[in-house]
Amino acid sequence: MAKRIQFSRTGGPEVLEFVDVPPAAPGPGEVRVKNAAVGLNFIDIYFRTGLYPAPSLPSGLGTEGAGVVDAVGEGVTHLAVGDRVAYAQGPLGAYAELHTLPAGKVVKLPEAIDFETAAGCMLKGLTVQYLMRQTYELKGGETILWHAAAGGVGSIACQWARALGVKLIGTVSSPEKAALAEKNGAWATIDYTKEDVVERVRELTNGEMCDLVYDSVGKDTWETSLDCLKPRSLMVSFGNASGAVEGVNLGILNQKGSLFVTRPSLNGYADTPQRLQAMADELFAMLESGKISIDIAQRFPLAEAGKAQEALASRQTTGSTILIP
Ligand code: NDP
Repeated sequence: MAKRIQFSRTGGPEVLEFVDVPPAAPGPGEVRVKNAAVGLNFIDIYFRTGLYPAPSLPSGLGTEGAGVVDAVGEGVTHLAVGDRVAYAQGPLGAYAELHTLPAGKVVKLPEAIDFETAAGCMLKGLTVQYLMRQTYELKGGETILWHAAAGGVGSIACQWARALGVKLIGTVSSPEKAALAEKNGAWATIDYTKEDVVERVRELTNGEMCDLVYDSVGKDTWETSLDCLKPRSLMVSFGNASGAVEGVNLGILNQKGSLFVTRPSLNGYADTPQRLQAMADELFAMLESGKISIDIAQRFPLAEAGKAQEALASRQTTGSTILIP
């Protein structure tokens, strides 16, 4: 038997159950990974609460982890038992000692990258890769607004922006988070609990406003974010930490300056094994060069996944959080 977290109904952290299940043998094209570390992400909370529906219940939870391949299904050629690997996509169920998933969603981990680092950055770092290098290819010199700059995705974004020569203005909710984002390379920070974000962006940019806004907060910040953009520039709405953006009248894009908007996801970019590998290669190169490092600021035993999710949902975490099976 192997331990895993599952949920049989949607709701608060109390719906998470820590159970023993028989290990699933990998089917054709699949591998089973013995997790050394599991990544905690906001999307896990969306599935637990039902904002994103799980395909069936009871369901496992989590999509990010790192460890060693312990069984390989028929037809898998690029992975073998004993390989060090990491993953950030595929079926729910990463919150577990053993996780079985399609081999095409799993990449080999370079020796220099440890399991905790990998579990702390596969989903978040690949997200920053596609947002900064594909959704819009930042060239350096742009000024961008990034919400939740001291969070998991945000901490990597600050460092990646610095490496690209991009001026990242990060929003945060405390002086401690501001200091952290600036240490990671944010060009400036705005504490939205004390300052007016639009006015502060206007001051910082001498009235020019931003070339792009990256908004993962969603409902609460949608309009503020649009107000921080230059005419004809791009709003990247990529998350729902405060709730989903709904009922948008497209006319608002006209009123706010002929803006563009996109709502991307990692699965839409890493949609083939080749694209996933190319994105992972770039993330791993950024880690190996020291241009970015992963701050594992919180570690919880797997059994305490609910407590970990509560901390993430209530803004108590910074950087990455991992669960240890
Ligand atoms: P974070 O570590 O960034 O945690 C969320 C942060 O959002 C909080 O720490 C808090 O920072 C801020 N926040 C603002 N409003 C709220 C609110 N109402 N409730 C909770 N938090 C709030 O989480 P992750 O790094 O895991 O994810 C960041 C975001 O990116 C999430 O929205 C996630 O869904 C999204 N995402 C999207 C992906 C995609 O491909 N589309 C992939 C990966 C992540 P502060 O206290 O400073 O305000």
